Amino acid sequence: MNNTVSVATAVDELALGETFTFDELVVAVERNRGRRLRIVELAELGVDDGLCAVWLGADHQDLILHAHSDSVLHRQQFVLHELAHIILGHNFDEEGQAVDFLLPDIPKETRLRLLRRQNLDTAEEVDAETLADIFAAAIRRSTRNSSRFAEIFG
Ligand SMILES: [Zn+2]
Repeated sequence: MNNTVSVATAVDELALGETFTFDELVVAVERNRGRRLRIVELAELGVDDGLCAVWLGADHQDLILHAHSDSVLHRQQFVLHELAHIILGHNFDEEGQAVDFLLPDIPKETRLRLLRRQNLDTAEEVDAETLADIFAAAIRRSTRNSSRFAEIFG
């Protein structure tokens, strides 16, 4: 089954305009897919190992696991990248389907196996990164807007 869409189509379908917050994006993705989206940090993930984030899909919800980063922007980028995969209709990690969502019960080795998936050379990865950058720019604009409001009304 191939339900992939282009980056431009994906942006249109979300109908969020050119400026939106991270939360608005998450809500739009949930609405689009008709299912919940959970975003969970796994503290033991090492960014140094190239393990930044992964998207796991179950029947009734999507789950994004991401590594810790002291930089909020960095962390946001991990998640935006996975959101992009979801929106672009890329298939989630097959192994993820077997994952029970009670994360504390998953042995660390299992989590790391699920998360060992970094290949930035494929077309899917390039598209996901392109879309993640579009999201990041829109969120940056919304942050600028809200700080301007804070200046005027705050
Ligand atoms: Zn990716």
